[in-house]
Amino acid sequence: MDILERFKKYIAFDTKSDPTSSEYPSVKSELEFGKILVNDLKEIGIDSAYQDEYGIVYAFIDNKKEKTIGLISHMDTAPTIDGGLKNPRLIEHYEGSDIKLNDKYTMKVSDFPILKSVIGEDILVTDGEHLMGGDDKAGIAIIFEFAKYFLFHKDEFNYNLAISFTCDEEIGRGASRFDVKKMKADFAYTLDGESIYEANFENFNASEAKVTIFGVGVHPGNAKDIMINSILLANEFNSLLPKDMIPSKTEEYQGFIHLDFIKGDVEKTEMEYILRDHDKVLLEEKKEMLLKAKKVIESKYPKAKVEVSIKDEYKNMRDYFIKDMTPIEMINRAYINSKLPIKYTPIRGGTDGATITYMGLPCPNLGTGDFNPHGRFEFVSVTQMKQMVEILKELFK
Ligand SMILES: [Zn+2]
Repeated sequence: MDILERFKKYIAFDTKSDPTSSEYPSVKSELEFGKILVNDLKEIGIDSAYQDEYGIVYAFIDNKKEKTIGLISHMDTAPTIDGGLKNPRLIEHYEGSDIKLNDKYTMKVSDFPILKSVIGEDILVTDGEHLMGGDDKAGIAIIFEFAKYFLFHKDEFNYNLAISFTCDEEIGRGASRFDVKKMKADFAYTLDGESIYEANFENFNASEAKVTIFGVGVHPGNAKDIMINSILLANEFNSLLPKDMIPSKTEEYQGFIHLDFIKGDVEKTEMEYILRDHDKVLLEEKKEMLLKAKKVIESKYPKAKVEVSIKDEYKNMRDYFIKDMTPIEMINRAYINSKLPIKYTPIRGGTDGATITYMGLPCPNLGTGDFNPHGRFEFVSVTQMKQMVEILKELFK
């Protein structure tokens, strides 16, 4: 089975994870899909493959080497629209025009200029009614194709190969049951990016803040000099924060303070913010801004009360890599040897790799050739998927 056939087989399964579920994995289809992957791993000759009690798949190919590199992809797809695409369409040597997906949807180059980056490549598009599922089944197909080669050319490589397919990445639980000990690797890479000419080892530092404002409620008719409307105070609180430090006005390395929930009445208003910055010092400054706004409101309205509680979520993996850049240097070497360019872009979010890195398994992210993920306009470059297999061959040398 070649890489395209395998990819088509895997995207035909709908493994859309479910954020409302309290189970792990969040949907049964991930468990079933994991069983199929274990079977397929055994079929290509990896007898060590198994699915653990949480549904996560692990496999190991011993090459009698001292060090082991891990490769990780996730089995679930985004809970945006249905996966389970049965009829993807292959466009060979894409020449750069708009792509009609079905009678209702056309993928226009003007809306998705990223299409220009794959001109001349073979691309696979959806039927317009499903997402592709290349996030992250492109990664799974690449790992299979590489593992097949690895098994029969072990003498070309200087590392052992560890593999893991994880669950529920799209709902933020991808690393929650991942077990570094089962992976048995010295470092690893998630194959979960877009263009194969970009890799990532930087992500946001992240915190969340709950702000609760207590006012004073009385009958509006008798409220003069007595009522303190917490809704208005919430408004004033938010206006004390920098106006341009919000998601819609920031990019690249600029962090933000994002108000993503508000609910209230006269007596009590609750707000939730997320705070993000690649720089941990700048993240601390953002926390200070909230605490300063609390002081301003409380001193202006002594009868009001403002509670601010801040919780850290995840950390930038760059701060880990500063101590040991080996996994990044290996990417550089693999791309130089492949005569291909590589650019490092900061992720404006978190990744499973960041969490796994802080579990003690350093884990940058590599691209797979999957573009416009999480929707009907998703497409994969089959050319880039194949190229990534070649890059992995250089990485393991
Ligand atoms: Zn993904």
